[in-house]
Amino acid sequence: MSDHLFDAPKIPAIPVVGEDKSYPVGRIFCVGRNYAAHAAEMGNEVDRTAPFYFTKSPSAAEQSGATTPYPPGTQNYHYEMELVVAIGAPAFNVTAEMAWDAVYAYGCGLDMTRRDLQIAEREKKRPWDLGKDVEQSAILAPLTKAIDIGTIGAQKIQLELNGELKQNAMLSDMIWKVNEIISHLSGFYHLRPGDLIMTGTPAGVGPVVEGDRIDGTITGLSPISLTIGIAE
Ligand code: MN
Repeated sequence: MSDHLFDAPKIPAIPVVGEDKSYPVGRIFCVGRNYAAHAAEMGNEVDRTAPFYFTKSPSAAEQSGATTPYPPGTQNYHYEMELVVAIGAPAFNVTAEMAWDAVYAYGCGLDMTRRDLQIAEREKKRPWDLGKDVEQSAILAPLTKAIDIGTIGAQKIQLELNGELKQNAMLSDMIWKVNEIISHLSGFYHLRPGDLIMTGTPAGVGPVVEGDRIDGTITGLSPISLTIGIAE
């Protein structure tokens, strides 16, 4: 094995509550339209035949508490508060019942989105990469091990923008449940430790401007925050 031509990109990693070692990020899968009220506010029907996905580059991962510059190419940068599932064991073609065994931990996440570009891409039936795979757009809070959370469903998921409540739902409002998503996704990918799944956002998404502060919470998990900096 020869040396690399240049320094290899650093693998992003997320802290884990109660652990000295961090969780290295492999892939970031994201579920679209997983809360009926959010699908409706975006003018979409919910497709209940199967979940659908887009991805963010692992290099888009950013720590909670960061200040990220307002990104280029958009006039409508949006927050999306989400439950993040961290895979901790290999899963390929697993049933929904078996899928729970693949979960290592949960965390709060922000799927920051160039909404104007995403909608333009959607209308032209093009991929969503410019809208979704934005640099520093996958904000990830410290993970909490699944064993410390228990059953997913009764937890509140909320987001405040500058102290004003904007998103407020229950994890039980998710159309596709955590185990159903893992089971479905495992029919297409060999899921493995390091893979993250952002499970979709509730209603109430909206734009940010320079200087805004986002605070997100999910009951029982480490909270998440983000400040929007000056455009570069
Ligand atoms: Mn999302």
